[in-house]
Amino acid sequence: MKDENCVFCKIVAGAIPSFKVYEDDEVLAFLDIHPVSPGHTLVIPKAHFPDFSATPEEVLSRVVTAAQRVAAGVLAGTGASGFNLSTANGQSAGQEVGHLHFHIIPRKDRDEHKPWQQREYAEGEAAKIANAIGERLRNKASPRPAYRRQASRGVSGGFVAQGVGSAGPPPFRPSSPKQASGYSAGRQ
Ligand code: AMP
Repeated sequence: MKDENCVFCKIVAGAIPSFKVYEDDEVLAFLDIHPVSPGHTLVIPKAHFPDFSATPEEVLSRVVTAAQRVAAGVLAGTGASGFNLSTANGQSAGQEVGHLHFHIIPRKDRDEHKPWQQREYAEGEAAKIANAIGERLRNKASPRPAYRRQASRGVSGGFVAQGVGSAGPPPFRPSSPKQASGYSAGRQ
């Protein structure tokens, strides 16, 4: 699945260049063009899914598993001592590119990068919001209807929507020795 207008689909297709650091049959990781810190890397599914909520579980688990591996490379390759892993889900969250991506942002002690501003709850506010969220979850709130429709149609190789408590993610299984090593250097 691909979106003709999507910049990340163009990177996957090789139509625009990127500094790739990792690739397997379903996942690609490359440097962010405007890094928060050197080595800031984006991890994406090769197939086009607009965001985290719209991504089938099976794809998500492959991307997250790969992100864990890529993060180890980012730490080793940059000398960072930590990293932030984040995704913006929707425009109001600051998402600019509508193709699921996780940011891996290398961090060093006292680098003064402060991603979040925090606040205090007003009296009673936390209980109210926790109840509202918990109740929706007990009533089986699930990802966006778009994902449910895709899942039931079996898009991209027959994804089946699964509820909480379904079997865990599949093991990381690169499909060729080249993909098993997974790493490629330079802008491609
Ligand atoms: P977000 O705001 O979470 O959607 O992040 C999108 C990210 O994609 C931004 O950090 C951009 O710098 C990055 N980006 C956009 N175009 C490219 C590109 N051609 N190559 C690499 N990174 C890009």
